[in-house]
Amino acid sequence: MHCPNCKKRAISFISWASGRRWVRYRCPHCGTPLKASPRTIKTIMLSILVGLPLLCAFSDPVLNSLHVQDNGVRRIVGVLLICLLLTPGAFWDWRSGFYALAGAPPKGDHNEKEQLKSNSL
Ligand SMILES: [Zn+2]
Repeated sequence: MHCPNCKKRAISFISWASGRRWVRYRCPHCGTPLKASPRTIKTIMLSILVGLPLLCAFSDPVLNSLHVQDNGVRRIVGVLLICLLLTPGAFWDWRSGFYALAGAPPKGDHNEKEQLKSNSL
């Protein structure tokens, strides 16, 4: 997921996909406040609209054919299947997508700040 202000990758996939950082975040490179883009929200909605009916249609027959009877195991497999269905769309959105601006970027040229930081080291 990239920052729309500095165009750099703002967050790793694991950090973005686990927790609430996909909703609200601050770019570590330029400090711009960020929020989920409309494309990210559409991708999530599409994944749910397509993935949940598939999960409902195929999980029980697959689990029955594997002779999985324990409800605890069935729930765990169901959660794993949901993660499996959501991961490709989430990875595509993270790899190619941008956050939306949630506010104005901080004042000052961030490249100038980075140059000052590297000179002081
Ligand atoms: Zn940035």
